[in-house]
Amino acid sequence: MQSSTYKILKVCVLGDLGVGKTSLTTRFVTENFVDKYKPTYQACHFHKYLHTPDSSVYIQIWDTSGTERFRSLSPHILRDSNGALLVYDVTNLASFVNIDKYWIKWIRDIVPDEFRLVLVGNKIDKSASRQIDSKMAKRFAADNSMLYYETSAKTGESVDVVFLDVVNLLADTI
Ligand code: GDP
Ligand code: MG
Repeated sequence: MQSSTYKILKVCVLGDLGVGKTSLTTRFVTENFVDKYKPTYQACHFHKYLHTPDSSVYIQIWDTSGTERFRSLSPHILRDSNGALLVYDVTNLASFVNIDKYWIKWIRDIVPDEFRLVLVGNKIDKSASRQIDSKMAKRFAADNSMLYYETSAKTGESVDVVFLDVVNLLADTI
């Protein structure tokens, strides 16, 4: 099949340092989990071909660094994207607070209101140390016009679902 027959979809993965952005992206792209801490210092680019009954999609995923927020993801990458995953860690309250306090505001300053965002609560395998209640997160997502998912990059739970739903959500915008 020629590349011209694929829809190209660009997605950014954003959120605080350590929430699991690289793990989620790697899990989806390679179906692996590397239980080793290795911060991402720059924006990294992953890609994968997806085939759904309706279309074939070439998805480009920008995995970004959470520490050097402004330097790691230049606004033009965001502008050039079709949507973004906003990831927090369900065992880390600050990472959830920062979605509202920092990430949504930063994004809304750069791209139009219609830019599609999906909220992802990661690390649900660590249920004993959970700090964010599902219902609260779901309500917050709905109030901000975002879909909401909970995942574990470690077990792989719901990781494919998130990316496949994101493809379906965004595919009609291109
Ligand atoms: P990033 O900074 O957002 O890219 O986060 P990483 O993907 O580097 O993950 C940070 C740490 O959390 C690493 O030690 C990962 O192994 C761990 N981690 C990521 N996702 C999960 C998960 O779903 N469950 C558990 N238990 N640990 C995770
Ligand atoms: Mg990373």
